[in-house]
Amino acid sequence: MKKVFFNIFFIFSIVYFFHEISLSEETFFRLKTPSDGIYYHKGILSEANKRNQGLIANLGIIIGDESILVVDAGPSKSLANKFIKIIKKISDKPIKHLVITHRHFDHSFGIEAFKEINTMIYMSKKEFYYFKKHGPTIFNNLVVNRGFDEEGINFSNITSDDISFLEGEKTLDLGNRKVLIKNVGAAHTEGDIIVYDYKSKTYFVGDLIFRNRAAAFTDANILKWREKLNFLLKDSWRYVVPGHGEIITSKEQLIDTSDWLIFLQKTISKAKKNGDMISEILEYEIPETLNHLKLKRSTLKEGLKRKIDILQ
Ligand SMILES: [Zn+2]
Repeated sequence: MKKVFFNIFFIFSIVYFFHEISLSEETFFRLKTPSDGIYYHKGILSEANKRNQGLIANLGIIIGDESILVVDAGPSKSLANKFIKIIKKISDKPIKHLVITHRHFDHSFGIEAFKEINTMIYMSKKEFYYFKKHGPTIFNNLVVNRGFDEEGINFSNITSDDISFLEGEKTLDLGNRKVLIKNVGAAHTEGDIIVYDYKSKTYFVGDLIFRNRAAAFTDANILKWREKLNFLLKDSWRYVVPGHGEIITSKEQLIDTSDWLIFLQKTISKAKKNGDMISEILEYEIPETLNHLKLKRSTLKEGLKRKIDILQ
């Protein structure tokens, strides 16, 4: 009997131990530094779940001689606090600026942690409107259906007074380092903001670009999104840090997003023409060139649910 009890205890401990490990591993920050003063955390290419607590998007850091700019706040206050601690380990400069590229939870829900350290927070006015309007319901769904920590964000602590709305563009000086922040308007969302560091020629483009993952399009204007990507084809740059996936170092690597958007446009117009329902659209063949993209079916399903009005 003692032995059986011991075995059960032993198995339970192992399961518990590995559960603990997987929990913490997926909420680790993995910083990469492609150029001097440029860092990013590479999110995992996975759906948000209890283990990763939504830490799935890439987050950026630009360090100047006088201050630091952070690109996106991550999915919760506690993870943003963890991120801030890590930034403080690599530099003692103050975190003066935070750019929220768009309102989606994996990019914006950590905002409170930056408010508490008096960081200037830039966001599109329209995106902030939707963040406040739909954020609480989205957060509640994440808590109930995906096991997110209930303390993740308190929306009443964030008001328009905390945000510096960015509609056009602005150049910030981080000390011997000029950075452009620009609201490109409707694309992946209603107001996507991009960041460009002149010194290292690095773009942080939020979810305008996904690599090796199907781009989410629940709140997108697909036609405008395709047009807005042209600047990346024309400009000369060294690095593009996408919202999800590996850093991009050549123009050919931008193709995952543009090919996926073309597929979505074709799919939606075919569905309209045929009068097909979502279940039928999900049966459409996905071109081979998109085979390597992760989360295709779930992204398609989620996006089509929200785009049902344009299908009718
Ligand atoms: Zn997004």
